[in-house]
Amino acid sequence: MGEEKRRIAEIKKKIAGFDLICPGTLMVRKKPCGKPNCRCASGDPEDLHGPYYEWNRYMDGRLAHKIVSQKQAEELKRAMDNQREVKALLHEWERESAEIILGTKVRKG
Ligand SMILES: [Zn+2]
Repeated sequence: MGEEKRRIAEIKKKIAGFDLICPGTLMVRKKPCGKPNCRCASGDPEDLHGPYYEWNRYMDGRLAHKIVSQKQAEELKRAMDNQREVKALLHEWERESAEIILGTKVRKG
């Protein structure tokens, strides 16, 4: 029993080390502006404007899109990596908890 509790203490310590966590995905897009005389009207993807960074995530059950700056995109990317790690740690925490409560090894959580 002590082993699981020690692992939980480690998981909590790791989770406490994260600062920003964000859900969702980041898309990089290039777009035409619609002006007929602009270079982006050439049809060549190289001539499109951008890149634009779009953050997609679910908010209250609905998909939300937001255009963000490159700097924000970099921060978001880091926060998304953090969120994945925190989720994996929570998953481990759940498994250790189940082992303590059931008193048996849980193979898959
Ligand atoms: Zn244009």
